[in-house]
Amino acid sequence: MAEYSIWILNFAEVPDAATSSLIFGRHNAGTQVLPYAYTLLKGHGKTILLDCGLNAESHGKAFVEKFNVQKWAHPRDVLGEIGVTPEEIDYVILTHAHFDHMGGLSLFPNATFMIQSEELAAWVKIMAMDRKFRWLMGATDPNDMMEAVQLAREGRLLGIDGDVDDILPGIDLRVAPDTHTAHSQYVVVRNDGKAVSEDCYIYTGDLIYRHDNIHGGTPDDPFYVANGLSYGSNTKLLLVTDEIMKTVGNDIRRVLIPHDQKMAELYPSRTTKRGHYLVEVALANGDASRV
Ligand SMILES: [Zn+2]
Repeated sequence: MAEYSIWILNFAEVPDAATSSLIFGRHNAGTQVLPYAYTLLKGHGKTILLDCGLNAESHGKAFVEKFNVQKWAHPRDVLGEIGVTPEEIDYVILTHAHFDHMGGLSLFPNATFMIQSEELAAWVKIMAMDRKFRWLMGATDPNDMMEAVQLAREGRLLGIDGDVDDILPGIDLRVAPDTHTAHSQYVVVRNDGKAVSEDCYIYTGDLIYRHDNIHGGTPDDPFYVANGLSYGSNTKLLLVTDEIMKTVGNDIRRVLIPHDQKMAELYPSRTTKRGHYLVEVALANGDASRV
């Protein structure tokens, strides 16, 4: 009995991301298409977005050019494929503050946003460091930070302190300090609502980019490999990867990765007229398929 419908919604892509940026140490291995996606949950009378993409019509444009982001679509069109409007989003859970995850703050006018307090604080600290450290800001847009602060002032951004169970019904937040970013978090969806869930999914944010980060390319004899663009400890990242895999009973299908197009092969999916994939991970009782 699923409590939430879950869709992974691709909204843009980088056609030529260096393989070494996705799989740590895999140098001289060319480039790969890197999709951008967020995840939509609908259930318990709520409409929830996990990460909120970026706004290519606003200051996000500079990062779109910097990272060669192509095929960006407005959430009005992306969510429209599900029959949801940006105005209907009640909550946005942000895994971390990178431009492609937190850059869409202005696009969801009625949402309340949640992020680890320490994640925001860490970026303010990094912004205030000597400019010799500016590499750390490579994927973080100071304009997004300004918008986040304004939302906090308006009472629309909630700082989360560490792990929280049932932040929303059946949804837990788990913090991953010093990994991809200072205080990334991942999202556990217990889709049967049970405390010890038999129907559990994890939305990873950027803790994991690819299945290769989980099995190293040898699923029969797996080993964890850090992704290639993390700012903290690779060892801590691997320990969090192990924590994620244990929580989902080592079922790789239950690990929902926003930057891996393989998601579309694991679940019913379709390609929209804008050329994006839309993945239907789960349907709540009584909800109609969108694929
Ligand atoms: Zn990131």
